[in-house]
Amino acid sequence: MSFESIGLSESILRAVEKQGYDTPSPIQEKVIPHILAGKDVLASAQTGTGKTAGFTLPMLEILNKVQPTGKKPVRALVLTPTRELAAQVHESVESYSEFLDMNSTVIFGGVKQMKQVARIKKGVDILIATPGRLLDLVDQKLLFLDKVEFLVLDEADRMLDMGFARDLNKILALLPAKRQNLLFSATFSPEIKKLAKAFMHFPKLVEAEPENSTVDKIIQTVYRVDIKDKLPVLINMINDGDWKQVLVFTRTKHRANRIADKLNKVKITASAIHGNKSQGARTKALEDFKTNNIRILVATDIAARGLDIPLLPHVINYELPNVQEDYVHRIGRTGRAGASGEAISLVAHDEVDYVAGIEKLLGEKFERNIIEGYEPKLEDAPPTKKQNGGGNRPRNIRNSDTVPKRRTQKNFNDKKKRKFVGKK
Ligand code: AMP
Repeated sequence: MSFESIGLSESILRAVEKQGYDTPSPIQEKVIPHILAGKDVLASAQTGTGKTAGFTLPMLEILNKVQPTGKKPVRALVLTPTRELAAQVHESVESYSEFLDMNSTVIFGGVKQMKQVARIKKGVDILIATPGRLLDLVDQKLLFLDKVEFLVLDEADRMLDMGFARDLNKILALLPAKRQNLLFSATFSPEIKKLAKAFMHFPKLVEAEPENSTVDKIIQTVYRVDIKDKLPVLINMINDGDWKQVLVFTRTKHRANRIADKLNKVKITASAIHGNKSQGARTKALEDFKTNNIRILVATDIAARGLDIPLLPHVINYELPNVQEDYVHRIGRTGRAGASGEAISLVAHDEVDYVAGIEKLLGEKFERNIIEGYEPKLEDAPPTKKQNGGGNRPRNIRNSDTVPKRRTQKNFNDKKKRKFVGKK
C-alpha cells in the first residue's frame, strides 16, 4: 500500500514526501482507511510506530474538505498526557499541514497562558492540549470546544495512569455529541476498554503489534547487580562502549537527579528530565541530548513518555519500572525507524520480581547475567504475592529461573559477547 493509494490529497502527499516517508507504516495502513471512512478508531500502538501521522494525516484530509468561513473554531482536539508529547504532536501536525490552509497550536501547563490565549483568539483548526490547561482555559471562558469534530486521545493509557480520568470526563461533556473519536493507547487494558465504551461509537479495533510485544530488533539484556554497584557499572558501560547517546531510566525524580550529577562529576555529560523540572529545563535537556551536547539523558517514565528521539542506540534501565507496561515504553525508545537498538536492565536483588512480571507480560524469558567484578552479594528477594501472578507460580521455578549466568569475560562492553549472553 502507498500513501497515494490510501486516499490522501496532493497537498498532504507533498508534506509526507517532504518528511521522507516512502510507505505507510503498519499502523498507518490499518488506521488511515477507517478514519477516512469516518469511523471511530480504538488503536493499540506504541510510540515509534508512526501513530501520530496515522491519526493526523486522515484527520487533515477530512478537515480540509470543508473549511469554515470567518474565524476558525477548534475543529480537532488532540489530548496528550504530557507537555512533551503535546509539543511533539504539534510539531508533527505543523509539518503534515504545511501545504494546507490549516492552523494548529499547542497548550499545556507550567508556562504562562498569555501567549497560548492570544494564539487561540486568532482562531485554530487543530488544538493539541494537556487536560489540565485545557480545562483551565475553558473555565476562564477563553476557549470553546462546541465545534469540535474530531477528538483524539493520544497515549490514553498513560492519561489514565496519571489520574486524568476525571478531567477526561469533564472534557468529553464539553464536546458536541456528533464527532469522530480516535483513541490511541499502548495497551488495551480493561480500563481503556471501559473508557472507550463510554464515549466511542462502534469503534474499529486496530492493533499495530500484538499486545505488549517488544520490537524484535531490540536486544534486551538483564544484568543482576547489587544496588551499590549500579553506578560504577553504568559508568563503565558508557566509558568502555564510548556511548554518545544513552537514555537512562530511573523510577524516581530524586534518583534521576543524583545519577545525572554523579555522571557529570566523572565528566560524562548528563541531564535529568522529570516532572519537577520546569518546562524550559525539560525542553533544553531534550534539545541538548538530541543535538549531542550531552551524552546521557536520565529520565523518569512520565517525563520520557512520548519523547521522539530518533535512532537511539542504547536504553538503560538503571531501575526497572514497577509498572510492567512502562518497560515496553522504555525500550520502545531504541531500535526505532528500522535501526537496531539495545536495552539493558540493571536488576538489584529487590527487583527480580519485576523481571518476572515483565517476562510474563512479554511472554519471553531473559537470562540473568552477571558481570565479573560486580557479582551480586545479596540474595534475590523472595517473590511477593502480587508480582508473582497471585502466588500461583511454583517456588522451584523461581529459584532455577533466577540463578544468574556467570559471565566469563572481563570486558562486559564487548558488544558481541553481550549479545551472546542476551535473551533466548
Ligand atoms: P510516532 O510513533 O508517531 O512518534 O512516530 C515515530 C517516528 O516515525 C517519527 O519520527 C516519525 O517522523 C516517523 N514516521 C512516521 N511515519 C513514518 C513513515 N511512514 N515512514 C517513515 N517514518 C515515519
